Amino acid sequence: MSANQLPHQQILDTINDGILVIDHAHILLYANPAAQRMLNCQLIPGQSLHLGLDGRAAESADIDLHAQMQAGWLETQISALDWQGNAAHIVTLRDVSARQKIEQALQNSEAQYRTLAKTAPVGIFRTDAQGQYHYVNERWSEISGHKAHHALNGGWLKTIHPDDRNHVWEQWQYSVQTQIAFNCQYRLVHPDGSTRWVIARASAEWDELEQLQGYVGTITEITEIKNSEQRLSQAAPILENTREGVMITDAQGHVQMVNRAFCEISGYVQSEILGQTPLFLRCEHHPEHFYVQLFATLKQYDHWQGEIWITLQNDQASPMLLSISALRNADGMLTHFVAVFADIAKAKSSENELQFLAHHDPLTKLPNRVLFQSRLQHCLERAQRRNSIAAILMLDLDRFKEVNDSFGHLAGDELLILVAEALSKRLRSSDTICRLGGDEFIVLLEEIADADAAARVAQQLIEALNKAWSLSGGHEARIGTSIGIALYPDHGDTPEELMQQADAALYKAKHEGRNRFKYFSEDLTLAARERLDIETRLREAVENHELQVFYQPQIDVANRQIVGAEALIRWQTANGEFIPPSRFILVAEETGLIGRIGAWVLQEVCRQGQQWLQNGLPALRLAVNLSSHQLIHSNIAEAVSDALTTSGFPADHLELELTEQALMRHEQQGISILQDLHKLGVHLAIDDFGTGYSSLAYLKLFPLNVLKIDKSFIEDIHQQDHATEITATIIAMAKTLRMRVTAEGVETEEQLDFLQSRECDQYQGFLTCRPLPAKAFEIFANRYQPDNPEYNHRLATELAMQPL
Ligand code: C2E
Ligand code: MG
Ligand code: MG
Repeated sequence: MSANQLPHQQILDTINDGILVIDHAHILLYANPAAQRMLNCQLIPGQSLHLGLDGRAAESADIDLHAQMQAGWLETQISALDWQGNAAHIVTLRDVSARQKIEQALQNSEAQYRTLAKTAPVGIFRTDAQGQYHYVNERWSEISGHKAHHALNGGWLKTIHPDDRNHVWEQWQYSVQTQIAFNCQYRLVHPDGSTRWVIARASAEWDELEQLQGYVGTITEITEIKNSEQRLSQAAPILENTREGVMITDAQGHVQMVNRAFCEISGYVQSEILGQTPLFLRCEHHPEHFYVQLFATLKQYDHWQGEIWITLQNDQASPMLLSISALRNADGMLTHFVAVFADIAKAKSSENELQFLAHHDPLTKLPNRVLFQSRLQHCLERAQRRNSIAAILMLDLDRFKEVNDSFGHLAGDELLILVAEALSKRLRSSDTICRLGGDEFIVLLEEIADADAAARVAQQLIEALNKAWSLSGGHEARIGTSIGIALYPDHGDTPEELMQQADAALYKAKHEGRNRFKYFSEDLTLAARERLDIETRLREAVENHELQVFYQPQIDVANRQIVGAEALIRWQTANGEFIPPSRFILVAEETGLIGRIGAWVLQEVCRQGQQWLQNGLPALRLAVNLSSHQLIHSNIAEAVSDALTTSGFPADHLELELTEQALMRHEQQGISILQDLHKLGVHLAIDDFGTGYSSLAYLKLFPLNVLKIDKSFIEDIHQQDHATEITATIIAMAKTLRMRVTAEGVETEEQLDFLQSRECDQYQGFLTCRPLPAKAFEIFANRYQPDNPEYNHRLATELAMQPL
């Protein structure tokens, strides 16, 4: 190479295109380094080079140098050239491998696209930039039911259900205008009129220059999904409201939904279990093969039903009635499993609950009358077969009404529950105890040894209930119990008969002073009838002024002076029948008539007392009996002060007698009422002391002035040692409490002597005088001679004999 050619050669050496110079005989005259690199071989001038370029001078062509030279694609350009005076060719080489690769790829992808479009499960469409269809694949035709050419240009719109067409068109226009991806669900109508749901998606296609080419999109058939969606959406409200738990899983068993009942039954929340398989419900109650069997059955019959234990969210096992069904689409392909859980534990327990409620008292949970009668019936049949004795005990709580009235019904309910528990505790499991309603209970004792056994149980029950009951709210209630007893076979042999007899005995028990039991006997039935009779007649008695007050003198034991009198009510009916207070006071209390009667007695006694004072009779203290009903249901302090004011009778001449029971019943209330009465200046006495269960210490709580020893103790003086003892003790203790002691029912000189020896303050009794009408009493008081008991007794007897 000559020196003057150097600059050109240098340039040629540095350029990137390969340069070859060859003469007409293909002898290489020059090759630059780029050509050497491209052809990947040593190119030495003078060597022969066959590039297959004959007769193609000034042509451009791509030659494949791959095979012989392991190079890529080269683009060649050949031009004629005068090379140092000789005709030659210059061949420029440009590496176009990259471009070739792209084109190859394009060709490949085009082929692939065609195959894909042909085999794709989705319908494919392509449009121009204006959104006009210019291609759809075969599947599009299958899905739409229309030939490909029907889709072209705007034809595709006609394949859409008329109801959906406008909407789709608007969406499509919007996408075409904004180039925002198209996504729309609509129905296609087949030529046979049937419809198919599809979801269509399309996106804009851009070329390298960012020019909008058109749109390419797909349609996928979703008829099946739509239908099941619709079925589900129709079913959803039902599922949500059904009481059975429902779980729906996909074909692989992944939970897709559960309803509210399922969550309630299992304790799981939906989000916890969605997507999981129901393995979490497995329960170790079942061996592995149980589940294997279950799935085998499900697989074979698409259904399984049976009882199964499942593990709840709280890890507890619970029994369910489970039914699993496989759901398949129109093609028979498994799509879902639906499991329905019925909580049999709940069903069982609510069934039991209903059963329980029908036969039990909801408050105390004790058997009710229905259950009791059926048990009694069975018991009687057994007793008849075995020749055994059975007893029924009818219980009535004394003073329960006051608990209700004073502390409220909730406290009353609480007390009933406590009583039910206490009774149940004391009975054998073979005994039945039932609440008949209110404060009435009935007990059935099966197979007892003898009548005494029933009495022993009755006594135990009385003792068990005879205590202070602590109720919530700090209330303390004291109640007692009266019990009527009827025996099989002595008192009857049918449930009705026995219950009736026990009821009559109960009434008698209450009548005799509560907190005691009583057996049934024939005459008790008469008594029960009479009680109803008295109730009606007593109402008339009040209206017709058939009631009167009698007075029994109270005498000072030491000096035998008359110091007072107890006012005792008497009832003589219009036809002359005399009814003692023991027969009507209880009825009056139960019916509430005692309020009116009591108020009248107070007025009458004060009026009479004032009259006697005015008549010049020595000042006497007049004692009036108060019923507990008056204490609680009327404003007694007001009634008393009213009677005193109206009559002008001095307060300290009036004494009010309250029974022990009346005080116990209304402990707190009682104290404050007594304090009010005390403030009025009247004297307060506790009547029938010793028949209740209060201690003297307890009585200190009340502002009492007088203690009246019950006549049952007086009666037994010198007859029974313990009664004598008790009387002596009561007197002694009352004195230490600074209470005046009055002995009631003194009938003999011996009793009086004893009382005098124990320094009892006063007495009243038949020994000296029976209760007398006011007039007769006035005469007796005027003529009374303290040191002449025989005379006094005679006088009293004479006065008592006089007609009223
Ligand atoms: P009580 O308050 O204990 O009255 C004393 C009772 O003993 C009276 O009976 C009286 O007649 C009776 N008695 C008096 N001395 C003797 C005696 O030596 N031997 C016997 N065996 N009995 C005697 P009565 O009058 O039948 O009254 C019975 C009860 O009726 C009274 O018992 C009292 O609790 C109640 N009662 C009487 N009048 C009234 C009244 O106006 N209001 C209220 N709430 N209750 C009254
Ligand atoms: Mg009295
Ligand atoms: Mg008394």
